[in-house]
Amino acid sequence: MFQKILIANRGEIALRVLRACKELGIQTVVVHSTADADAMHVRLADESVCIGPPPSRDSYLNIHQIVAACEITGADAVHPGYGFLSENAKFADILAAHNITFIGPSGDHIRIMGDKIEAKRTAKRLGIPVVPGSDGAVTDEKEAKRIAAEIGYPVIIKASAGGGGRGMKVALTEADLEIALQTARTEAGAAFGDDAVYIEKYLQKPRHIEVQVFGDGFGRGVHFGERDCSLQRRHQKVWEEANSPALNAEERSRIGGICAKAIADLGYSGAGTIEFLYENGEFYFIEMNTRLQVEHPVTEAITGIDLVHEQIRVASGGGLSVRQEDIKFNGHAIECRINAEDPRTFTPSPGTITHFHTPGGLGIRVDSGVYSGYKIPPYYDSLIGKLIVHGRNRVECMMRLRRALDEFVVDGIKTTLPLFRDLVGNADIANGDYDIHWLEKYLAKEE
Ligand code: ADP
Repeated sequence: MFQKILIANRGEIALRVLRACKELGIQTVVVHSTADADAMHVRLADESVCIGPPPSRDSYLNIHQIVAACEITGADAVHPGYGFLSENAKFADILAAHNITFIGPSGDHIRIMGDKIEAKRTAKRLGIPVVPGSDGAVTDEKEAKRIAAEIGYPVIIKASAGGGGRGMKVALTEADLEIALQTARTEAGAAFGDDAVYIEKYLQKPRHIEVQVFGDGFGRGVHFGERDCSLQRRHQKVWEEANSPALNAEERSRIGGICAKAIADLGYSGAGTIEFLYENGEFYFIEMNTRLQVEHPVTEAITGIDLVHEQIRVASGGGLSVRQEDIKFNGHAIECRINAEDPRTFTPSPGTITHFHTPGGLGIRVDSGVYSGYKIPPYYDSLIGKLIVHGRNRVECMMRLRRALDEFVVDGIKTTLPLFRDLVGNADIANGDYDIHWLEKYLAKEE
């Protein structure tokens, strides 16, 4: 087992990882920018190293500084959290070259999944169902038209190097295709420095369902069921739940089994998430994330398994603490992402939190690094906390969520809490009847 882990992140996820390290008796080092000197994870860590000024590229993305911090403190492993360097293959390779363990998969696996064309090709080879579309990059218009006619309109053109919901264009008919192809390529080139794009069928009313997987480092793979993250705004997840209201146990075990086998065949090590669109009973792979997800706590709530403990065990060569047959799904869990944003316009609302009171009681978990008197710096993303609620079934979970949202107090800044108080009373949400476009339509109506 590791002696000392360096946490290369900030905010709620830095605290989340720190808690897991403490429970395992592992010393912790955190790195932080000058803007985060007062952060909770900095206060609670055994050691902290200031690695630079506020802009992420000078601090949380500065590989040299982070490697230097490992060497100064003698850390033997790095947990990257999510975002920042968590899916940076070069970072994983550099750490390996310094004999420091990256708590995540190999650089090569990060590289494959970071290139969407390569990821889709790999998924297909491993027997994972994918969205019908081009086999690889599409360059000329004639070829694009031929493929689109074959799969049928509407189609979506996506950047191979895309991420964060950027670099996608929909063509409803053949007349739109030429311009969609051109703009997608130009935008991808400008945004990602790589203009490779591919075409796939545009699904009109899918749900976003993702499977949590783990490779144990010894060639075995398991799945921890799925999460439904269909409630999105601008392709950003807002509310996540496990299990999906749309799946039954048989579908769960079928898609979970396919994913676990694929992970084993790939020789993957650590945590990963295989993301699908789900429509009319069919799953369509869209991408794989090679890291811990923001929404991992809903899976923890229904399985009772600490996924960060498992990541650390696997990275240290100790394998998983559970086999597939030990992973059972109990009840229902929902996570609300609480952002420091105006709940109507979603513009960021940094500033000082004058009062912070979190709900408690059975089945309630709040993952947050903020506190009364904390000043939210304007440099980073606006997530300030996550409310995760567990109940014996979805109805109990929703009742408890409504009560927890009533108790939650964040004064001094605007947050997205009022949005969740509205959603929890909505009939479609109560029925679990929503697709990936539901929230945008709901927000447009409310305006
Ligand atoms: P990113 O890496 O940028 O997040 P994804 O491939 O994960 O890109 O897609 C993000 C979102 O875009 C999906 O959750 C879905 O809402 C939408 N999307 C992607 N591909 C399709 C598709 N073929 N049909 C319909 N919507 C899609």
